[in-house]
Amino acid sequence: MCGIVGFVGMQKAAPILLDGLKKLEYRGYDSAGIAVMDQQVISISKVRGRIANLCEKTQDGSLMPGVVGIGHTRWATHGAPTEENAHPHLSNDGRFAVVHNGIIENYISLREELIKDGYHFLSETDTEVIVHLIEMYYRGNMRDALIKTVNRLRGSYAIGVICSEEEGKIYAVREASPLILGIGIGENFFASDVTALVNHTRNVIYLEDGEFAELSAQSIKIFDCSGTEFRKKATRIMWDVQAAEKGGYEHFMLKEIMEQPGAVKATIAPRLRDGKVVFEELEGLAAELPNIRKIVITACGSAYYAGCNGKYALERLSRIPVEVELASELRYSDPLIDEHTLLIVISQSGETADTIAAMRECKSRGAVTLAIVNVVGSSIASLADYTVYTWAGPEIAVATTKGFTTQITVLYMLSLFFADCLKRIDKDEDKFIETLQALPRMIQQAIDMNPSVPLLAKKYHESHALFFIGRNTDYAVALEGALKMKEISYLHAEAYAAGELKHGTIALIEEHQPVIALCCNPSIMEKTLSNIVEVKSRGAEVLALTFRHNQKILSVADDLLFIPDVDALFSGVIEIVPLQLLAYYVAKENGCDIDKPKNLAKSVTVE
Ligand code: GLU
Repeated sequence: MCGIVGFVGMQKAAPILLDGLKKLEYRGYDSAGIAVMDQQVISISKVRGRIANLCEKTQDGSLMPGVVGIGHTRWATHGAPTEENAHPHLSNDGRFAVVHNGIIENYISLREELIKDGYHFLSETDTEVIVHLIEMYYRGNMRDALIKTVNRLRGSYAIGVICSEEEGKIYAVREASPLILGIGIGENFFASDVTALVNHTRNVIYLEDGEFAELSAQSIKIFDCSGTEFRKKATRIMWDVQAAEKGGYEHFMLKEIMEQPGAVKATIAPRLRDGKVVFEELEGLAAELPNIRKIVITACGSAYYAGCNGKYALERLSRIPVEVELASELRYSDPLIDEHTLLIVISQSGETADTIAAMRECKSRGAVTLAIVNVVGSSIASLADYTVYTWAGPEIAVATTKGFTTQITVLYMLSLFFADCLKRIDKDEDKFIETLQALPRMIQQAIDMNPSVPLLAKKYHESHALFFIGRNTDYAVALEGALKMKEISYLHAEAYAAGELKHGTIALIEEHQPVIALCCNPSIMEKTLSNIVEVKSRGAEVLALTFRHNQKILSVADDLLFIPDVDALFSGVIEIVPLQLLAYYVAKENGCDIDKPKNLAKSVTVE
């Protein structure tokens, strides 16, 4: 995810583009660039890092004349955040410049084809194929070239283009990435969201998937993939800028919870081909797998719990033993790790200090290392032998949500990939692939099925403690559910393996003690049910998370949260969603600073 902007009008474009990019910086901030057209010549300025660097380089845009241009603030997915990889990308003949938000899933084959046809690539990005395709297809008609180009692309994109032969025009198209057109007087705009537009206009057109736009200072023309023009209604924006950044949500955390169906889809879709999980980035590892005797997963905080969740699928499908270790413990534990160990390191930021140290320790003992990170080009990604990116987009709220769910999703996919590489194919493999494909939809259902969460939060927000219980896969989810609650609502929340209650914890259960019971794993449901009955007989108030048809649980619990039917091996990614919402609304009831909880930092770069 990143931000793109486009401007065409009478005023100088560069300062307007820079202003728009500043507003979009929260969407991506590892590098930035603008392209401006003046007298049929396109000039480009790009920098690593923040928009401020771009303002400095271009003297707030004054060094770049021209009234037509496009801009980009990047959140790298393909290629490190360097100046070469920053957008806009220029065609070899210098006639076209492109900005792109999203992922081109088939960029490898397109790149090979274009190289054979003589095109030179200057970056490692997936995006660059777009600009060469446009050059290849351009025969004096930009609409035609754009339609032909888009026909070749698979994936998600919001694309902005300028062409030196089409002076006074900017072009845009979208598929599964946001894009909004801004209607001005004698000037027009496009942008990834309204934050970049509201300083100039409040009249906008929301472009939909498969729709193209041609903007000039005086007109906006919208056309479909056959080139046929049609009209779209404009909308008037009433939001203020701050609300717009959050997509209309009150907090980034809520926005990011709601983004999870899309984020998990972005993790899965490019890696599913012909009913199989394909990790192009792990080709070398596939050859090393037969030598691997155990997997050690290491991480901190939620990423550690992602590991706890992934362990079940990894062991069950790949049949390799899996240990999950806290990085801060592993680094000092003189670990029994050698060249037969695969170390999986998980970190959203890729900069977590303890995780880096544990990784260095294990590397020095010979472990093969695989990183699961969100931030491209981060320290952990650079240190690892292999890296799988989660492609969740930037996460602004300190408490992770989509970062966590995309990490578990990668672990599910690795379990199928390893099983396949080792020919330990499960008879249910097809079923698991189908489940994987359905996860984004099921996450959406888990959001939609629980409209009662704000009311439940009113009931539970004053509790002095919340206990989360569950067994097996449910226990792994309970750990993250309790952490989310602690992090943002400051309530005391603990997760217990339900079978452990009798070994001490049950002493804490008294009249009206809330217990959140996770019952989404049919293989041990009866056992958890007994634990629910035990705590209820001691006066506990039970909020159960389960399937809608689960009559037994429905009849004993006081309150309910639901998830759609899903195989327990892959259910963690769904189960956590109602618990994230619960933590969010409890924190809101308690008036907490949800996006910036006290004492916590997003990226923990110290020990
Ligand atoms: N996939 C493109 C890149 O890595 C665009 C990323 C973005 O949306 O910022 O350059």
